[in-house]
Amino acid sequence: MTASLEQLQDLERQYAIPTYARNPVQFVRGEGVRLWDDEGREYLDFLAGISVLNVGHCHPRVVEVVREQMGRLSHATNLYYTEPALRLSARLAQSSLGGKVFLTNSGTEAIEAALKLARRARPRGKIVVFHDGFHGRTYGALSATPQESKQAPFAPLVPGFEAVAKDPEALGAVVDSDTAAVLLEPIQGETGINVLPEELLQAARAACDRTGAALLFDEIQTGMGRTGTLWAYEQTGVVPDALTTAKALGGGLPIGALVTGQRLADVLRPGEHGSTFAGGPVVASAALVALDICSDPELLARVRGLGERLAAALAEVPFVARVRGRGLMLAIDLVEGTDAVALARRALLEQRLVVNATSPATIRLEPPLIVSEAEIDEAVSRLKALAA
Ligand code: PLP
Repeated sequence: MTASLEQLQDLERQYAIPTYARNPVQFVRGEGVRLWDDEGREYLDFLAGISVLNVGHCHPRVVEVVREQMGRLSHATNLYYTEPALRLSARLAQSSLGGKVFLTNSGTEAIEAALKLARRARPRGKIVVFHDGFHGRTYGALSATPQESKQAPFAPLVPGFEAVAKDPEALGAVVDSDTAAVLLEPIQGETGINVLPEELLQAARAACDRTGAALLFDEIQTGMGRTGTLWAYEQTGVVPDALTTAKALGGGLPIGALVTGQRLADVLRPGEHGSTFAGGPVVASAALVALDICSDPELLARVRGLGERLAAALAEVPFVARVRGRGLMLAIDLVEGTDAVALARRALLEQRLVVNATSPATIRLEPPLIVSEAEIDEAVSRLKALAA
């Protein structure tokens, strides 16, 4: 039994707090890089639920482990031991910064944990963030997201945040001995796939080393293999003091994590932070599988190669002015006069290609990492058909 799209739109109008501008499509099934709507039409998914389905829709290993764990133990709280959460914490720490892990239910909660950690390490310290950054919608994360349209309606925000231009000198001037953290996305995702230059990352590292502030990388979108290494920081010369992950970590289920290096591993003390659901056995089991799949060196090498293939093909599309990004985290800037929001909608409705506009000028492409060469070529030819 499936409700029609019109019935869902009626329910939305009456009962859903209208925070989302949904596209007029109801998805009912997914497999790999494909989605199907309620009319049985097949779509090529080059958004992957905004970089959540890095392992593809309904990966058989994720489905199997979730079914099995759900039938055995779904929840116990963090008052007791469960194996998946602690095995996942170990895997996350070993795969990156070598310290300790706090599990969460989402990206924004991972950011909250990172902010609390930084303030706990340097009490009352300020948090420095970059213009065009995006870190989430809860109050701490929102206060770290210096965008007028997102912040202004919800003032007053959390005090002690300072936004700075993406410029090494400007950054060096604001980071001081009262700074608790510099928080940044190595590639800014929500604001159009802006790769931060190596000099800026080096300047952030140097400023934190000079002052003792914590360098925090938000890898919620860039992590889990998206850029061709498990974590984006691996392709830079900079190692952060802590990182956040979420989105693709759960293989389609909601989970996030704060991962520290050794220096910050024991800053938070018993009772200082917590979450009822975080690290539950079902999501943690799914995450162990997703992390295993996304750390495979063969898959990561393929992501780098496929990213180059997709970037090169996109550059040949008539309405594309510029291609940006790394691995399979790519954006296209459109030639002047082409509206990205309208184009993404036409791609969905006319070509059954799922992509997303991050602004009126830019479209983002983040397919599942298991995408094939043939699917990449097919997606590009569907985009080209929109130019005809
Ligand atoms: N940080 C980054 C870089 C993100 O891209 C997002 C989500 O788009 C978030 C934080 C917030 O994550 P969530 O939507 O899971 O709260």
